[in-house]
Amino acid sequence: MEEVVFVRDEKGEVTPTIENFYKFCGIGKLMAVKCNKCGRLFVPPRVVCPDCYSSSFRWIELSGKGKLQSYSVVHIGPKKFASKTPYTIGIVKMEEGVSLPSLILSDKNGDIEIGIDLVVDFEAPQSDDWPKWPRYLFRPAKKT
Ligand SMILES: [Zn+2]
Repeated sequence: MEEVVFVRDEKGEVTPTIENFYKFCGIGKLMAVKCNKCGRLFVPPRVVCPDCYSSSFRWIELSGKGKLQSYSVVHIGPKKFASKTPYTIGIVKMEEGVSLPSLILSDKNGDIEIGIDLVVDFEAPQSDDWPKWPRYLFRPAKKT
């Protein structure tokens, strides 16, 4: 595995950027940023908190577990995803309370519905994708 080099600020802190967010994905971590002033979580990261206008954040690793809040099935997608249609894009509400959009992948037809438990998974960068960043996606949690 390639060594991951994060973008850091002058104090050596990993800056709250999309680029760093995807670098964390590359090492199998789904990360949010937490506002140091009001405590609100964001995924993907923001530069300024829309609640309190603070620009001071720290990274928090998420559990990777969430529930499907809403979804839609894409039958006609952008050209580069045409071979993958139909696919499902959903909003995942994480255990930590923050929501994020994601591709939802299931091996079985018909088991994607609102409220199901999901777990995060990561994919290596696709060769024909740009930018060449690793991706996160969610799959239905295995029932135990
Ligand atoms: Zn804030």
